Amino acid sequence: MPGEKVVASKIALTYKDEIRDFLASLPLNTPAPLLVGLLATSDPAAESYANWTKKAFEEDGLRYEVRKIEEQHVEEALAQCNDDPNVHGIIVYYPIFGLTPSYSGSSHDDYLRDSVSVQKDVEGLTFTYRTSLYKNIRYLNSNPNSKCVLPCTALSCVKILEHCGVYAKSPGVHNRLQGKTCTIINRSEIVGRPLAAMLANDGATVYSCDVDSIYKFEAGGLRRCDEGTTVKSVVEISDVVVTGVPVKSYKLPTEWIKENTVVINVASFKNVDADELLKIDGVKYVPMVGKVTVKMLERNLCRLYKQYHMDRKGDGKGDPRDALVKQARDFAAIAAVGALSLLALKLAGIWRHCRK
Ligand code: NAD
Repeated sequence: MPGEKVVASKIALTYKDEIRDFLASLPLNTPAPLLVGLLATSDPAAESYANWTKKAFEEDGLRYEVRKIEEQHVEEALAQCNDDPNVHGIIVYYPIFGLTPSYSGSSHDDYLRDSVSVQKDVEGLTFTYRTSLYKNIRYLNSNPNSKCVLPCTALSCVKILEHCGVYAKSPGVHNRLQGKTCTIINRSEIVGRPLAAMLANDGATVYSCDVDSIYKFEAGGLRRCDEGTTVKSVVEISDVVVTGVPVKSYKLPTEWIKENTVVINVASFKNVDADELLKIDGVKYVPMVGKVTVKMLERNLCRLYKQYHMDRKGDGKGDPRDALVKQARDFAAIAAVGALSLLALKLAGIWRHCRK
């Protein structure tokens, strides 16, 4: 049986219906959840992502507002959104400061990422959500309405794999990918890294490939592979291959791909020759994921709205204070690490000075 092309827009329809049903369930005259996009970068990719989001939100009855700001005002704008009860989700378009360091020890963009309220972080990129993912913790606390938010692009790949039948239908949450091998050619903070963790958390053996290294991820364990492990050797044994290489010249050799593999191209460039790939028996090929990604963004917004922004009395919804207390604790830990690093640098300077 020849390969099959799977179109993301078809998968996205399921989630369109879910969002429509959620909006229909809101009390009459309730304004739809509002996502605010903070655009402080001149990167045209960020601007087109913002436009694209606006269009999708309008079509689905959700509210989206983009605020264009100068980079020196982004922190203030972010604090305003965090405090504004009429804002239910926040998306900040990066890079803004690139690798410019922040006083707290990380980069200034990382500092901004960690400053988004966990109640409004539709991208699941704050320290609290990131560390929960890497520790395979799925809820912020014991309340079933405190589910952690997952990064949209990585989550879209998981939903696509569910649609393609890679996930077992059994209810065991932690092992539905048991026995599956996956290769992800991308290890960025927003795509490859969280995706590798999500698939490993679900029981798969995951190879995470970057330009200069390959890591093997399995539930609870991560190790760097030896020199003998190559992209070719891991793709050849994989049931799932996800490519996210952001250059036009990159093409994954299709002869490495075995029969019945699901191949997802996340990159904006075609990392695989579709015609050659579809000659392989049983292959399923998903050339683009954007349509599902934007639905995951909408879904994350609706979930945050339901968990933290709807009427908070007596209906079992997550207590927003629990999430904020956890984030404040995490933030204090990051600040303490930053302050200790600065102190260590200062002491090292004094020590050098005394020795002169
Ligand atoms: P990035 O530049 O942050 O990361 C790229 C990753 O690929 C890095 O880990 C890099 O080391 C790795 N890489 C580059 N060349 C490689 C090679 N030859 N072999 C192995 N690894 C290699 O980019 P990103 O933000 O992760 O985005 C990647 C692509 O995905 C881009 O084309 C972007 O436009 C697209 N993207 C799509 C969506 C969506 O939902 N459709 C969302 C985010 C990103």
